[in-house]
Amino acid sequence: MVFSTIAQSYFDEFPFRRADHRKTSTDFYFLSHAHSDHTSGLRLSLSDPDAIIVCSKETSAVIKVLFGIPKEKCLIISPNQSLDFDKYTVHALDANHCLGSLMFVIESKKGLKEVYTGDFRLGKPILDELNLIQGANHMWLDYTYGTNDIFKFPSREEMISEMISLILSEDNYPSRDIWIAAYQVGKELLLKTISEALKVKIWASDVKVRIYKEIGGEWDIFTNDTDSGVFVGSRRMVERLHGINKDGQTRMIDALRISPTGWSARLRKKRLDVHFFPYSDHCSYSEVHEFIKIVKAKNLTKI
Ligand SMILES: [Zn+2]
Repeated sequence: MVFSTIAQSYFDEFPFRRADHRKTSTDFYFLSHAHSDHTSGLRLSLSDPDAIIVCSKETSAVIKVLFGIPKEKCLIISPNQSLDFDKYTVHALDANHCLGSLMFVIESKKGLKEVYTGDFRLGKPILDELNLIQGANHMWLDYTYGTNDIFKFPSREEMISEMISLILSEDNYPSRDIWIAAYQVGKELLLKTISEALKVKIWASDVKVRIYKEIGGEWDIFTNDTDSGVFVGSRRMVERLHGINKDGQTRMIDALRISPTGWSARLRKKRLDVHFFPYSDHCSYSEVHEFIKIVKAKNLTKI
């Protein structure tokens, strides 16, 4: 749970279930991005007519499709924008994680500072705004791959070019189906680059198609049409053929299956029928430790 003492507000936490858990005196709830481990209780925010969800416009599109949260319930904040509240200011930065993900810096009028990274990958949008982040009194930090130095990731661009080379190599696309593992939201840079390189929309679940149609513009890259030849599904589907019917499984066993995940270092030896790539929307081990050194937060909570 992230509760900012400066803002007296919750971040990625929606405790509407129990009124006595609501310590906040304001009605603002901050959402960094819409992955399921960050949206617990969000649907219940509909039961509180005063609750306002502060998030990016992309995240507001995602939660509209996933939870039926109307856009009027969201206060949109864009990367590099600040919102002034009575006793504090919230700055949003591009967290370089999934599309629309934000990192928040909370500052009191007296100069105290808190940083909530949400999920993030260290990169230009964050390194360009270090002045804002440095010297925080407290930082809540995405520490997903911080525990073990086996989690080394090349840049996402390098991994994308390796994956596209594999897809286009002899006997693969278009003669075989291509399956790529991804969550409902995320890995957009990879999927968009593949879609552009192969000049096709990518088959996805109906919900995923609707999410990216709602976001719109250049991100409308998914289709319900199985003739696409390129498919995206969950890691359980792509790695273990879970949730696929018998006919689908037969077809999928012949497919080229790619799982881009930060956990590749642990998985690639176990599943020789799946191509693992250490592609991640989170920091590698070295990136997260570099970030800790740069920020020099007085207190650190790893999450
Ligand atoms: Zn996430």
